[in-house]
Amino acid sequence: PLSGRTAVVTGSTSGIGLGIARALAGAGAGVVLNSFTDNGSDHDLAQGIGAEFGVRATYVRADMSKGEECRALVAQAGGCDILVNNAGVQHVAPIDSFPVERWDTILAINLSSAFHTTAAALPGMRAKGWGRVVNIASAHGLTASPYKAAYIAAKHGLVGLTKTAALETAGQGITANAICPGYVLTPLVEAQIPDQMKAHGMDRETVIREVMLERQPSRQFATVEQIGGTTVFLCSEAAAQVTGTTISVDGGWTAL
Ligand code: NAD
Repeated sequence: PLSGRTAVVTGSTSGIGLGIARALAGAGAGVVLNSFTDNGSDHDLAQGIGAEFGVRATYVRADMSKGEECRALVAQAGGCDILVNNAGVQHVAPIDSFPVERWDTILAINLSSAFHTTAAALPGMRAKGWGRVVNIASAHGLTASPYKAAYIAAKHGLVGLTKTAALETAGQGITANAICPGYVLTPLVEAQIPDQMKAHGMDRETVIREVMLERQPSRQFATVEQIGGTTVFLCSEAAAQVTGTTISVDGGWTAL
């Protein structure tokens, strides 16, 4: 259903971004993978997806903490019908000792990058009269938890940017939506476990059960395949009037 479309997925060499790129390729879209590295393995990853799904797949290096590189990614992609703003980083610390440099970086990668890529992608989408912007926010784009000030502020901001993009593109064949995952077991989540163990004075299993999945009533992690499937839905014609909203994939977290 997405053949002939090209998707740019930021931060897509691992975790959710990779799952989304694979799902879009599986639906027939050409995909542009991205991260801030430029290793042979990055290009091999793209080549592997292209071979597996029979689509055009390339890798473009760009650092999502730098506005000019965000815009250059879209320019170099050779088309951007589907823009998935997925790159994101986390840091866990109380506000009064939150490192300023981490605050600035998290706001840049998790929020400002989506402003820059969206600004670069909209003219091409308008010219075609078709486009999809899918922003990977978080349950933390809708609710808060302690010790994640920068992430939560950025994700709430991303939801606001999503709504604004939807209003500015309404009726133009373009939609903008945010997916709000609960906990998905990816490298980003894995890396939080030691910090949470320290902050709460708990062992690994207790942190997973009592802290991480405590707010996810299903007590099950969501999967990257489920986030990929939700993205494919948002790119479908069934979702043509779904715009300016959030879809939670969080095992009931935000129903509490
Ligand atoms: P991950 O660490 O596995 O992947 C993050 C990706 O972003 C990597 O591919 C990394 O290379 C890339 N990236 C990091 N900094 C970058 C930069 N400066 N420039 C370009 N790329 C960069 O993390 P993930 O868990 O897959 O998270 C992906 C997105 O999903 C993030 O925005 C995250 O906030 C969001 N999210 C994750 C969860 C979860 O439980 N894993 C829940 C809600 C939201």
